[in-house]
Amino acid sequence: MDFSSLISHRSTSINGSGIRRVFEIGAKIHDKIDLSIGQPDFAVPQAMRAAAIRAIDGGRNGYPLTRGVPELREKIARSLHADLGWKTTELPGCSDSHSGLFVTAGTTGALMLASLALLDPGDEIIIPDPWFVLYPYMGTFANAVAVPCSTYPDFRLTAERVEPLLSPRTKMILLNSPSNPAGVVSTERECADLLDLCRRRGIILVSDEIYDEFTYEAFRTQPSASDPAKRRCPSPARLPGSQDNVLVIRGFGKTYGVTGWRLGYAAGPRPLIEEMVKLQQYLYVSAPHPLQWGVIDAFDADMTEHVREYERRRSLVVDRLSPVTQVPAPGGAFYAFVKVPERLGYPEESAGERFFQRCVTERVLVVPGRTFSKRDTHFRLSYATPIENLERGLDTLVRIMKNG
Ligand code: PMP
Repeated sequence: MDFSSLISHRSTSINGSGIRRVFEIGAKIHDKIDLSIGQPDFAVPQAMRAAAIRAIDGGRNGYPLTRGVPELREKIARSLHADLGWKTTELPGCSDSHSGLFVTAGTTGALMLASLALLDPGDEIIIPDPWFVLYPYMGTFANAVAVPCSTYPDFRLTAERVEPLLSPRTKMILLNSPSNPAGVVSTERECADLLDLCRRRGIILVSDEIYDEFTYEAFRTQPSASDPAKRRCPSPARLPGSQDNVLVIRGFGKTYGVTGWRLGYAAGPRPLIEEMVKLQQYLYVSAPHPLQWGVIDAFDADMTEHVREYERRRSLVVDRLSPVTQVPAPGGAFYAFVKVPERLGYPEESAGERFFQRCVTERVLVVPGRTFSKRDTHFRLSYATPIENLERGLDTLVRIMKNG
């Protein structure tokens, strides 16, 4: 069988090699220091594990409603109200408290449904460069075009950088704060300007907030709607009237260490949510049923200590690397996007790859910048790893950056 004539251009145009290649190379290295994995390294809260097991034992294993179990949607609605001030009953066109939101199979599910619901062939979506690996393919899957907006060297997605890239075909702008791969947290001003731009041009601002809980103290500059003393990550969804233009996407995987549970949610204008729900029904029916019961308690889990621990690691990374290279201090998530120093003499178009290869010889794994970008001048380091590992890894990185 000649599969080359059978497989779609859509599929062949997707490059699956980036992070998987790092993983495969890493699998062959013994006693490695892995700074490539974007996965929390703490235990899942006990109440969540117990609730998921109870749900399985209690027979909650069949199809749930496509939108997700009502008890979870109620929790999400309350959380959006307390945090963003969003009254889901007041979302455009909403008649009941849950119709402006639904539960998705991870944030990936929500991002994919958003692009399928919004993009026609030839339409455009603006994504930040560097990007999270799925973003360019949100265009590809919909036969549309993802237009990268360079955010070098500070990795800030600003309205000023985005506006020249807009065309009559642009349907959405994708904002990710705190960001993967740079850990950058948008300011209130940047959020407001992007929202204003979207309003003026009649397009949707998709806010991927998968790392919102992982925002460090100094970057929590906006009060939550219900409690001004509770400081939160800036979000365009916190601005007055944002419900008309902002699709908020959040997840449980990173926040509570349950990336394998595949759970997230989307909230926003009802006409868009309704289309996304319809597509979910046919694409993968629903998010996993028993695990939805597991995350109902997640909203009550206190993750402060874990966030503080990541903040300590962030400071270690910045303190150790700043003397030898450029690294914009992450304000959240658990990644840093680090410049490969020019003194190493690597060609600009493959510096990230060359640095990655050099690190492999020292049994340290990072991810070359080109996995997340049109450029290859940087590498991503994840500090979601025990501090002893991180310290040893940083020793090696600093030595290579100084001496080649
Ligand atoms: N958005 C960003 C910015 C991410 O980093 C990730 C996961 N690494 C996702 C979305 C997808 O997350 P999920 O596992 O919830 O699908």
